[in-house]
Amino acid sequence: MLTLESTKPSSNTALGRVLVVEDEETIRETIALSLSDEGYDVITAEDGSKALEIACRTHQSTAQLGSPIDLIVLDLMLPHVNGLDLCRLIRHEGNNVPILILSAKGSETDRVVGLEVGADDYLTKPFGMRELIARCRALLRRSNHGNSQSQETALTFKDIVLYPQECRVVVRGSEINLSPKEFRMLELFMGHPRRVWSRERLIERIWGPDFMGDSKTVDVHIRWLREKLERDPSHPDYLITVRGFGYRFG
Ligand code: CA
Repeated sequence: MLTLESTKPSSNTALGRVLVVEDEETIRETIALSLSDEGYDVITAEDGSKALEIACRTHQSTAQLGSPIDLIVLDLMLPHVNGLDLCRLIRHEGNNVPILILSAKGSETDRVVGLEVGADDYLTKPFGMRELIARCRALLRRSNHGNSQSQETALTFKDIVLYPQECRVVVRGSEINLSPKEFRMLELFMGHPRRVWSRERLIERIWGPDFMGDSKTVDVHIRWLREKLERDPSHPDYLITVRGFGYRFG
C-alpha cells in the first residue's frame, strides 16, 4: 500500500517532500508522523520496488505527483529491492536527491558501503526522532543550497564556467568540447569543490553500477579533462590527485 501522508496544509510543502521507505510499519509510521509534525510533506513506501517507482516517477515527471521528492529516508533491509540496490538505481537514473540510510547494521563497513553507493548520510537503529529530524533538516538545507547553485545558475570556479542546463563549459573565455562522461565528471567535481572522490565513487556516479571496466578508466578521463582544462596538465591547478584516496577539484 502506498499512502500519502499530509497532516499539514499544503503551504508547508515548501519545507520539503520526504519519501520514507521502511517495511516495518511501526517505524515507518513513527518517522512519517514525526516528519509531518515538523511540517514536511511525507510519502511512505513499504518496499523497495514501490520506492523506486515513486522516486523515478517524481524525478522524470513532476506533474503526476505534484512536486519532486526532496529527500529519501531509506531502510537497508527491505523486501523486493534492498536499500543499497535502491540507492544505486536511483543514482544510476541521474537522480541526486539526498538519501539518508537507516540500518540496524552499525559496522564501519556497512556505513562505508552505504556512502559508496551514493547515500549522503547514515543513521544506525535504534535512533531518536530528534536526531533523525536534525539529519533530515541538515541534508535538505545542504541540497537546497546546492540546487540553487547547480540547477538554476552556472557553476563557476576561477576561470572555468559550467552551464548545467546547456551542457556547455567555458574555460578562460573559450568554449571547450567535452564528452558526456567528461562533462558529468566536471559537473560533479565543480558541484563539490575540494571534496575528495575515490575512483570507485566516481565510477558509481558517472558510469553507474553496471560498469564492467576497472578504475584506470577514471584516471584516463581525468587525464583528458586536464588536457582540456589545465594550463599545464602535468602541474594541475584544478583536478588534483590526492594520493591514496582519489581526486579533488580545486
Ligand atoms: Ca527493514
